[in-house]
Amino acid sequence: MANNEFLNSLLREYEQKKLRAELDSEKRKEELYQKYPKLQEIEKELNDFAIKTSKNILLNNKFSLSDLNKKIEELKQKKEEVFKMANLPNDYLKPKYECSICKDTRLCLEK
Ligand SMILES: [Zn+2]
Repeated sequence: MANNEFLNSLLREYEQKKLRAELDSEKRKEELYQKYPKLQEIEKELNDFAIKTSKNILLNNKFSLSDLNKKIEELKQKKEEVFKMANLPNDYLKPKYECSICKDTRLCLEK
């Protein structure tokens, strides 16, 4: 079926674009982490904090939402400082998708 082949190759092309954008972002991240190990530390702290927080919520422990937001804001600010120091935009590590609407998942074409 020629139509299916066409569709498949179109989908493959989109998948490759998406993958490329993501691999590219991973590479930028690794390079940046090597240059600024502090950034990796902050990122790790953010992740650990997110895990700890979701555990707390799951276990139904009391937690203060304002404390939580304060801590996250604090870490984000630290991150922005590193980016500023490195002279890079804050979204430097985000994958650069060709289509920012569907992030190259082609979902925007399905409507
Ligand atoms: Zn799109």
